[in-house]
Amino acid sequence: MGFEQEIKKRRTFGIISHPDAGKTTLTEKLLLFGGAIQEAGAVKNNKIKKSATSDFMEIERQRGISVATSILAFLYKDKKINILDTPGHKDFAEDTFRTLTAVDSVIVVIDVAKGVEEQTEKLVQVCRMRNIPIIVFINKLDREGKDAFDLLDEVEQKLGLTVTPLSFPIGMGYDFKGIYNIFEKNINLFSGDSKKNIEDTIAFNDINNPELDNIIGKKAAEELRENLELANGVYPEFDKEAYLNGTQQPVFFGSALNNFGVRELLDCFIEIAPIPKDKMSQERLVKSNEKTLTGFVFKIHANMDPKHRDRLAFVKIVSGTFERNKPYLHVRSNKKMKFSSPNAFFAEKKEIVDISYPGDIVGLHDTGSFKIGDTLTEGEVLYYKGIPSFSPEHFRYINNADPMKSKQLSKGIDQLMDEGVAQLFTLEMNGRKIIGTVGALQYEVIQYRLEHEYGAKCTYDNFSVYKACWVQPEDINNEEFKEFKRVKQKFLAKDKKGQLVFLADSQFSLQMTQQKYPSVKLHFTSEYE
Ligand code: GDP
Repeated sequence: MGFEQEIKKRRTFGIISHPDAGKTTLTEKLLLFGGAIQEAGAVKNNKIKKSATSDFMEIERQRGISVATSILAFLYKDKKINILDTPGHKDFAEDTFRTLTAVDSVIVVIDVAKGVEEQTEKLVQVCRMRNIPIIVFINKLDREGKDAFDLLDEVEQKLGLTVTPLSFPIGMGYDFKGIYNIFEKNINLFSGDSKKNIEDTIAFNDINNPELDNIIGKKAAEELRENLELANGVYPEFDKEAYLNGTQQPVFFGSALNNFGVRELLDCFIEIAPIPKDKMSQERLVKSNEKTLTGFVFKIHANMDPKHRDRLAFVKIVSGTFERNKPYLHVRSNKKMKFSSPNAFFAEKKEIVDISYPGDIVGLHDTGSFKIGDTLTEGEVLYYKGIPSFSPEHFRYINNADPMKSKQLSKGIDQLMDEGVAQLFTLEMNGRKIIGTVGALQYEVIQYRLEHEYGAKCTYDNFSVYKACWVQPEDINNEEFKEFKRVKQKFLAKDKKGQLVFLADSQFSLQMTQQKYPSVKLHFTSEYE
């Protein structure tokens, strides 16, 4: 198969949701369709097995949270599907944000009873900032939930989307009879049998056909006709271009647990979802069909095998092919590197591959050379944009609790920050180190990992910060900036890359500072135009 065909074959996407909406269940059913796993429950089981063999994963197991972002790939109808799993727990949101830089589209899972939840809002906001194409899957239709139209309204209002249903439920909960597939124009009757993998559908081009009354009953048939007419009047027709440029979002209904409505979702997905996209770098637009390799690190996974303590850097291939044992330029260090055992991911396994294509993710064994955002090329000096740091929500001083182990502590902190577990700020005034995280849970993760992986001990002290703002002076030599630096000295720090950061202690002081020093721009993310 030619290079272009390989690209066209690939669909790389992420599934995002608030915890418990059904992301894991949906992922598992998708894998079943690809024949990638044989039994239901395999995805979850796999998580537990891993956790038993790795210290860090033990935290995950104990807390029942999916910490790891893993990659699951399978073939379905000749398409190579790469699913980038994303942790739903809010304390790992930053991990999910970074993963979203490596997907070409997303599926959002929403619980029919709970509707749009907090994490869904945050994650969809990030997708919208980047115009990532979104398909919405409303899950758990076998349970009583909100009215379909109310839910569609809620999705539009809370998520700021422009939806159009591509399927429509017939009844719900106890009365759930099935789904009318607007995209394919057929009916799928719900039997409640989760073992049924291939769903039988009944073609129904014209829902006014009286046969519908015989199949789902007169009352349900009339209701469906009314609902579809209403939907037709209210929502725009599905427009693939609008979906691809992020201005329209198709919606499917189903029940992942019952494997119901999942095939419809997948069949539509492979037809409409984008193939690996061109990507803007700081230097130029890189086309996915360029022959030379470019790729970037979006995740570093530590300590998969406790015996080796090495790390796995996840690289998204943007252009060209990634080949085993071929030298590539690690742009940041300006060093050539060769990889004798790059991993590809298939179903829930990883294996060594000789060649990977745009859209694919390769896992590279790493002993500490990689950082999030690093690029690999065949010689070109090129950096990809779009892996910004966001202002953390929590801040604490980190102290060394074992003076004999200060080297281990600073190495550990360094490496954990490179992995993107948290952000380090060093105060300008006295060099004290501050760890910023998205959730309080990360402090425990850091403490645990420093002890178990680096043999170092730390304690924390509270440090009250409202927000970290990246500082962009109009002119570093102007008096206003000099005064800002002098007056705010106590609140200034450097991030890991040496960028200047203002740690505002309250919303009020942030506003006052902005008013007083208008030429000093303060940004909530580390990347800005
Ligand atoms: P995640 O946290 O988003 O990955 O959610 P899970 O896939 O782990 O699902 C959370 C819970 O919802 C589990 O107990 C699932 O069995 C259940 N669940 C998932 N899909 C459905 C569904 O379609 N119907 C019902 N009734 N329960 C579901």
